[in-house]
Amino acid sequence: MQTATFARAYRNFDRRPPTLVLNADHRPLSYFPLSLWTWREVATAVYLDRVNVLSVYDEQIRGASLAIDLPSVVSLKTYVSQEREPSFTRFNVFLRDGFACQYCGSLEDLTFDHLIPRSRGGRTTWENVLTSCARCNFEKGARLINETTLKPRALPRKPTLPMLQAKGRRFPPKAYHASWIDYLYWDLELEA
Ligand SMILES: [Zn+2]
Repeated sequence: MQTATFARAYRNFDRRPPTLVLNADHRPLSYFPLSLWTWREVATAVYLDRVNVLSVYDEQIRGASLAIDLPSVVSLKTYVSQEREPSFTRFNVFLRDGFACQYCGSLEDLTFDHLIPRSRGGRTTWENVLTSCARCNFEKGARLINETTLKPRALPRKPTLPMLQAKGRRFPPKAYHASWIDYLYWDLELEA
């Protein structure tokens, strides 16, 4: 069953509902953003025998050499290692920092701050960039931390992929299909 919210949330997703993609251990390949494929990507993966279909929607996809029920959940046949390094992207820096200013905790107007300002030789690296609201960023300006009253909650570090996955689990998708729930929430504590 698809709820109206689900249909609305994904109405621009290549005209068909998306498929949740799990790693070979049946955990989402990515929690945030949630690993979702379009029906075209899923059709290719099924055709190439790269996934197991765990659940299907009540609709079909047909191609020249394939007619299958559209999968709602698939798992990869080959495990994708979580040992690899996360990519250094704006999104991942925000995710590491929980989408909160590391100085004042604000969740709005987020940007980046260089702990050691670029004008003073600071580089754009995991260890020198942190999430900051525009106000704190402006207040800090080109000064070093010890020249201001601003204090970061923690010194920025390079995260591991499991660390980012754990952060991502705190941001559940706004809409999900009933067949996804077991795979999204099995490892969360049940609310009393
Ligand atoms: Zn701030």
